Amino acid sequence: MPDSTGVNQPVFLSLGSNLGRRRSNCLAALEMLAKVEGVKVLKVSPFYLTEPVDYLDQDWFVNGAVKLETRLGAFRLLQATQAIQKKCGRKANTIRFGPRLLDIDIIFFGDQIINSAELTVPHPRMHKRRFVLQPICDIDPTVVHPLLGETVESLLAKLDPGSQRMVPY
Ligand code: AMP
Repeated sequence: MPDSTGVNQPVFLSLGSNLGRRRSNCLAALEMLAKVEGVKVLKVSPFYLTEPVDYLDQDWFVNGAVKLETRLGAFRLLQATQAIQKKCGRKANTIRFGPRLLDIDIIFFGDQIINSAELTVPHPRMHKRRFVLQPICDIDPTVVHPLLGETVESLLAKLDPGSQRMVPY
């Protein structure tokens, strides 16, 4: 598996769940993440209840974000987050964007740009998703998307205000 070393810049992950005890699933993931060797959790966002996007016939999600630093490379971090998803009971999804016990996405890995079969960073849909942008903005609105050259605050402001409802959890 290709890998680079960790970045000295912050890494942002998005967390989500819409099955079972949704907030507890996210909190369990955070606990496991904090125990991964080489990962230091710096800040956790508030959580939100969010309307599903893409695949609409499912429960609302609980979503949040976490800022961390790591000496792991991006692919090692992906392995760690996938192991956590598995431990939290996630099975392979049959429906794309469908219901899930736990979803962890790597949104930014410092300003690295990665395009491979298993990992795309920055996450390719993040700039269109309020449930990703809002929690990252809560942590740090000045983070700049390394490809789009805009802050998360500015990307959030571009979303249609009536779209993608969400409320603090
Ligand atoms: P999903 O079912 O939406 O969680 O997608 C999981 C798949 O997306 C995994 O096979 C990952 O290898 C792949 N993937 C690509 N880019 C990312 C990313 N930035 N964060 C997490 N998973 C990713």
